[in-house]
Amino acid sequence: MDSTPHTDPSAIDRDDWGDYDPIRSGPDYVESLRGRNLKVYLFGERVKEPVDHPIIRPSINAMAATYDLAAEEPELATARSPYTRRPVNRFLHIAENANDLVMKARMQKKLGQKTGTCFQRCVGLDALNALHSVTYECDEFHGSAYHQRFVDFLTRAQTKNQIIGGAMTDAKGDRSKAPHQQNDLDVYLHISRRDANGVYVTGAKCHQTGCLNSHWLLVMPTIRLGESDRNFAVVGAIPAHARGITYIYGRQSCDTRSLEPGNIDSGNASFSGQEAMIVFEDVFIPWERLFLDGEVEFAAPLVERFTTYHRCSYICKTGVGDVLIGAAAEIADLNGVASASHVKDKLVEMTHLNETIRSSALASAYEGRPLKSGAWINDEMLANVCKQNVTRFPYEISRIAQDLAGGLMVTLPSEQDLVDDDVGPLIRKFLVGRDGVDVVDRIKVLRLIENMTLGRNAVGYLTESMHGAGSPQAQRIQIARGMNIDEKRKLARTLAGTKS
Ligand code: SF4
Repeated sequence: MDSTPHTDPSAIDRDDWGDYDPIRSGPDYVESLRGRNLKVYLFGERVKEPVDHPIIRPSINAMAATYDLAAEEPELATARSPYTRRPVNRFLHIAENANDLVMKARMQKKLGQKTGTCFQRCVGLDALNALHSVTYECDEFHGSAYHQRFVDFLTRAQTKNQIIGGAMTDAKGDRSKAPHQQNDLDVYLHISRRDANGVYVTGAKCHQTGCLNSHWLLVMPTIRLGESDRNFAVVGAIPAHARGITYIYGRQSCDTRSLEPGNIDSGNASFSGQEAMIVFEDVFIPWERLFLDGEVEFAAPLVERFTTYHRCSYICKTGVGDVLIGAAAEIADLNGVASASHVKDKLVEMTHLNETIRSSALASAYEGRPLKSGAWINDEMLANVCKQNVTRFPYEISRIAQDLAGGLMVTLPSEQDLVDDDVGPLIRKFLVGRDGVDVVDRIKVLRLIENMTLGRNAVGYLTESMHGAGSPQAQRIQIARGMNIDEKRKLARTLAGTKS
């Protein structure tokens, strides 16, 4: 591990780092997001202060949980940085050994359990880890100076304890064409001009997790690039509040329930994920925050390393799965069928699927290996197997949870009816479960299952599981590349004693 300490913190524009002390807690973090004057659009209107918007706030709460966990369980959610020589939030730490990869996975599972949704911070962590080795190897090959710049930036981020969001997925336009062949070059983020101080980028990044809850955006290419794509081979750190950035907030199923009075119908009123489209119009990146500039041969390694890290990060879904399995067991009990053998068997099936995801994620961490820069990376095959499991098993777990919940989950009256003087008593009378069960508790558990399997947090638990960190086919391509079928055939031939 290259542990050169940060050289000159004052070399970087202070305003971009915010005029506040290092962030120490969830509430500190929430305050750090205020007053940034971000250009955010939701339902066709500009959002004045995202922190106070009832649809956006649950996603900020989920991100804040990453700070609170570091304070509550420092052995799990912090690590000693070789750069600051102090403990830093594990979401800003470069893995120095296999144990760091394992601890990262455990932390992600725990946060899934605590939030029941996507806590959004892993994209940046995985981008930082991928960039550590790629900048090192690029410098070695080209004689460039990206690695030290990157380490300086990382050190400052660790000191301020800020959130680095990753921004990788371009709009992509015609998928059959390379970036430079597109009719509108803006469908891939690219360098649109240069001056004495740095470069300017134009384009868009789609469905970016937690982007406006971040302090920084780390833009990266999204595909393998060729010689003619030099302007698209750009990696740099941009303040989330930089001039020229527009965020168009992605809406989520049932999101407007957060605008209604009461908390029950939301299902999980505290936490949600966040995705938005980020449009960049001539956005400035100074040289000191530019970590790749035209080195097309390093785009593919960057994407592959990022996805290897990120596909294991999807152990987060096993924490969310724990919540859903718990909710399924809870509703079975409230309905009075907890001891039925088929119910017990369904809970075992859900657990088996969930733990299969966990086992592949942890195995890929234990089988990690060091790279030239000193950073460690997960085993690539097992990372792809983990993510492939994630594209399937949460759907089956959700199906069983809905089976155990029953149809009432989608026909329940609203919270407003529940508190109405006329119909409220009728709802309480007819929706009783087993003896001694509070009707409202029963409704709350059903709403949680609805939230996770077809409501707002199904975005994170299901569709994001399918497409985040690459759609299923992307993992199958990598599995095919690494499966070494010839070696396996040789083993079979040897034992079978065949000659041809
Ligand atoms: Fe992290 Fe999971 Fe959200 Fe990805 S989907 S950012 S791995 S919590």
